Amino acid sequence: MLNKKTVDDINVKGKKVLVRCDFNVPLKDGQITDENRLVAALPTIKKLIADGGKVILCSHLGKPKGEPKPELTLAPVAKRLSELLDKEVKFAADPEVVGPNARAAVAAMQDGDVVLLENTRYRIEETKNGEAFSKDLASLCDVFVNDAFGTAHRAHCSNVGVSSLVDTAVVGYLMQKEIDFLGNAVENPTRPFVAILGGAKVADKLNVINNLLEKCDTLIIGGGMAYTFLKAKGYEIGTSLVDDEKIGYCKDMMDKAEKLGKKLLLPIDTTIAKEFPNPIDAPVDVQVVPSDAIPSDMQGLDIGTKTAELFADAVRSAKTVVWNGPMGVFENPTLAKGTLAVAKAMADADATTIIGGGDSAAAVNQLGFGDKMSHISTGGGASLEFLEGKELPGVAAANNK
Ligand code: ATP
Repeated sequence: MLNKKTVDDINVKGKKVLVRCDFNVPLKDGQITDENRLVAALPTIKKLIADGGKVILCSHLGKPKGEPKPELTLAPVAKRLSELLDKEVKFAADPEVVGPNARAAVAAMQDGDVVLLENTRYRIEETKNGEAFSKDLASLCDVFVNDAFGTAHRAHCSNVGVSSLVDTAVVGYLMQKEIDFLGNAVENPTRPFVAILGGAKVADKLNVINNLLEKCDTLIIGGGMAYTFLKAKGYEIGTSLVDDEKIGYCKDMMDKAEKLGKKLLLPIDTTIAKEFPNPIDAPVDVQVVPSDAIPSDMQGLDIGTKTAELFADAVRSAKTVVWNGPMGVFENPTLAKGTLAVAKAMADADATTIIGGGDSAAAVNQLGFGDKMSHISTGGGASLEFLEGKELPGVAAANNK
């Protein structure tokens, strides 16, 4: 899985290169409100331009579900990319994605030119990996480059289907970086390797907990999912988030940690409130109590101060840290302290620090620690599946070295 051909292994001079990017950016009134994904795609695009390829870009945007929706057009992306590349990115505005505009634009390309196709999810076949659309995409190109890690856990036409129809399918720099960081962390970490899991529900991360327990030295559990573990230990957890069906699973994981000689750290104290804040960032009265002393009418909404120190100490002594999921309701400043403490410890640690996308990436950026991490994954779902130890179809489809 880790030994895929990349854009450095091919010669694209004069060739038509279809590049699957992740241009799924947030838009407001036709304006891009966060262009991180565009910036992250530039190294691969620049490399292909410099090598004299005819660069045909494609991506999905949002969930149009097979219906061309004007508010989900990639036209604003073409405009912004032209500015970022300082070079025209010609937009092929076909509702069927590969239509007369795209074909004409591609036919007219000179070496080093760039064309962007319309939103791949305007085609109903895209998310079903349907043959007709895969063939359309393959008919445009000689070479395929997949640089969209965010959809690598899905088998769609624009990543998997098209790969099987071209002779050369490789990964781009962004995809390679994700594979290197996440792959090395899980399969070949510099130890001690500390994994931190948080977020709302245990059920979302069953396989991640199970797999990481085998790979890491210390597994830290915080956030809403910690209370099911605390209940499994026999603690009273008040009205905290709990998944009663997963109590047996949590017990199994605690037994497994003990058998494997791994440290499994749970909150020793917790920040509680009477009610979940509404709206989420509303002022909230909190107290910190030991994890086994949560009153029956109160709920845990963040790790406590002693736990924050315990987790931060573990992080600071690590050489590899992987983190997915906030330690509490970080959207509320009063309940963001645990998440902040972990983010800060990661920023200070002399370690390879990896954020597994989604809410944790948002939290780390919101708290201002984004540029202090070794790697922030661009794919929440994809990075979780990677941490589960699953093979990602979008990666598997690329040619081996
Ligand atoms: P993604 O799935 O986008 O990658 P994630 O895995 O980082 O996100 P989620 O499982 O979606 O995280 O959970 C994040 C949510 O969990 C946040 O909105 C946060 O407010 C909430 N949360 C964290 N701790 C608690 C808690 N103790 N009680 C209730 N909700 C919590």
